[in-house]
Amino acid sequence: MIANKELAFQRNEKADRAAELIIANKELIIANKELIIANKAQGEFLVNISHELKTPLNVIFATAQLFSMYCNSGSLDENKDSIIKYINSIKQNSYRLSKLINNIVDTSKIEAGFFEMNLSNKNIVEVIEKIVMSVVDFTQSKGLNIIFDTDKEEKIIACDPENIERIILNLISNAIKFSNEGNEIFVDVKDKNEFVEISVKDNGIGIEEKNLDMIFDRFKQVDKSLSRKTEGAGVGLSLVKSIVELHGGTIYAESEFGKGSKFTVKIPSGKVLNQNISYSGNVRSENENVKVELSDIYS
Ligand code: ADP
Repeated sequence: MIANKELAFQRNEKADRAAELIIANKELIIANKELIIANKAQGEFLVNISHELKTPLNVIFATAQLFSMYCNSGSLDENKDSIIKYINSIKQNSYRLSKLINNIVDTSKIEAGFFEMNLSNKNIVEVIEKIVMSVVDFTQSKGLNIIFDTDKEEKIIACDPENIERIILNLISNAIKFSNEGNEIFVDVKDKNEFVEISVKDNGIGIEEKNLDMIFDRFKQVDKSLSRKTEGAGVGLSLVKSIVELHGGTIYAESEFGKGSKFTVKIPSGKVLNQNISYSGNVRSENENVKVELSDIYS
């Protein structure tokens, strides 16, 4: 009798173990699938990133070859006009490389928890207005109109102006990239008491609803073909989102395909007691920041 019970007990235990094994196996299959997806995303990222790194490098290299050709044939002087154009192209492509490398390095720093934020109490309205003013000429040269609006002249909040500039320039850069000549870009600042709402709205090509969720994912681009019209490695928005979150804020996108997109950033209205005045070692001038951040828009 006792032996029978023992046998039944052992059988039950075996059945339980088998069930556990089946569950564990299913979990392994899911984890494996996730790994395959992550690997695929990383593979796609590598293809994109090497294309993005190689394009400006090739331009710089080809230009250097032209220079040596002019030097060897003694025709530097007679080609002065083209040389000025080539120098500009070298600068433009160096800015592009710089932006990409900055974005990759900062994404890694954020992941590793080493990213430095220099928070200070600043008039956010003025910070945003200045950023918009700094791109008016560039935007106009692309046949686009940029309009700044606010419901308040002054709102002092804790923020890192250098990183706020990156957020807004990135959003404006995308708005320019995905707009057509004659379109308009609206940058609005609204005081919502507990937080400040900053929006960048365009009436460009828009984003399909099915893609709206994934645009903040790292390395994700809606159009992955190498022949697509615009450049970019798909790190911009994921970095923007991380920097917004480091401010304690949120970001979301709304869009109607073919009609335009609107990106809204909400930053809490807190203040800091000890203003961090440490420098990030970034010696770029204001004007240079614009050149770097807007560098992947073709002229
Ligand atoms: P990228 O380096 O490709 O610009 P981002 O992370 O900045 O990467 O943007 C991811 C994708 O989101 C873009 O490739 C584009 O498809 C889409 N996107 C971003 N902003 C806009 C916009 N204003 N209008 C239309 N599509 C946009």
